[in-house]
Amino acid sequence: SSDNVPQAPEDPLFGLMAAYRKDTFEKKVDLGIGAYRDDNAKPWVLPVVKKAEGILQKDPNLNHEYLPIAGLAEFTSAAQKLMLGAESPAIKEKRVASFQTISGTGAVHLGGLFLSKFYLRPNDQPIYFSSPTWANHNQIFSNVNLPIKTYPYFSPQTKGLDYDGMRAAVESAPEGSIILLHACAHNPTGVDLTHAQWADIAKVIRAKSHFPFFDCAYQGFASGDLEHDAWAVRYFVEQGFELCIAQSFAKNFGLYGERAGAFHFVTGPGPDAQNTIGRIASQLAILQRSEISNPPAYGARIASLVLNDRELFQEWEENLRTMSGRIIDMRKALRGKLEELNGKEGSWKHITEQIGMFSFTGLSEKQVLKIREDAHIYMTKNGRISMAGANTGNVEYIAQAMDKVVRE
Ligand code: PMP
Repeated sequence: SSDNVPQAPEDPLFGLMAAYRKDTFEKKVDLGIGAYRDDNAKPWVLPVVKKAEGILQKDPNLNHEYLPIAGLAEFTSAAQKLMLGAESPAIKEKRVASFQTISGTGAVHLGGLFLSKFYLRPNDQPIYFSSPTWANHNQIFSNVNLPIKTYPYFSPQTKGLDYDGMRAAVESAPEGSIILLHACAHNPTGVDLTHAQWADIAKVIRAKSHFPFFDCAYQGFASGDLEHDAWAVRYFVEQGFELCIAQSFAKNFGLYGERAGAFHFVTGPGPDAQNTIGRIASQLAILQRSEISNPPAYGARIASLVLNDRELFQEWEENLRTMSGRIIDMRKALRGKLEELNGKEGSWKHITEQIGMFSFTGLSEKQVLKIREDAHIYMTKNGRISMAGANTGNVEYIAQAMDKVVRE
């Protein structure tokens, strides 16, 4: 009976959003949610998205029929090329299965479900993800019954990568484990591997026959350069790995609520690759059908129009540079003001060294709660701030409050 349903805790991030909305303090600041804001703290509909919406509205043939189970084909094939590169050998050799999903979350889930059911793990090898990671990874993989372990990732001392810790954990994981990797702009730390570190971890993953699972939620949003942000995934594919990728278009198109995303499974090269990918695609289709039947059309249509048109694509790149550029400027401004206040050059350098939407400030939970109470600045308890919440109007206020709380 329903008497046995225990009360679940509220989602911490969405709880934080609700608390912010309720706050009536004039200078309140939202550094919680990972969604882009313009310099006036307003959501930003990308101009190229507006243009694509205009084109869609004028299309007399547009209707509301179901998409196929795997989604809009023009969208998934363009998404594949964006992720892997148009010249990718994996695409040419037809050894990629791509499914349109409910944004990045749906792609992570579809991948988790598929691996849990079909990826042979004779000793019930776990999935390893970074500590910390995006909070949802834990629940998604738990819900599909994959055993969960973590590898170290962040060094509180340097506020940078604990590469040695990560490497040692991946190396000592049982052979054939699944290793979840953030393709770029790691959430929540903003800390990524260097190319040399990626190449090295690839060697360890290969030596242990692990399976790499890339989560890519910030391509183009992180650096403003789509190729640069795809480097790690493409490197692994070039090395011939069998792997999968969860791809989100929430941040880089500002299509958060439209839930546009894709899941890609890439098999290794070989005479049997096409046969293997066909079997994999057939099972993914059944999983997709039983979960969502077919994905939502609107966001995928917009992204597809832009991705498949040279001019719109260039305009999109411009929009990406606007977003990433503003965030980089805010990193510089916040660091500059903080160091001006404490007079110690370099003391906040992690803010400009970290990339993407977030900065892992190093503030303790106590400091986070104090700053919320005193200054009405909202951030997650782990000290993560969304850089998109900072703007020229509030960055000084944020810096003063952060400076004050670390002195107390
Ligand atoms: N993975 C990571 C690491 C993320 O940060 C996010 C967005 N917060 C996602 C996946 C998925 O987001 P969405 O479902 O909105 O695409």
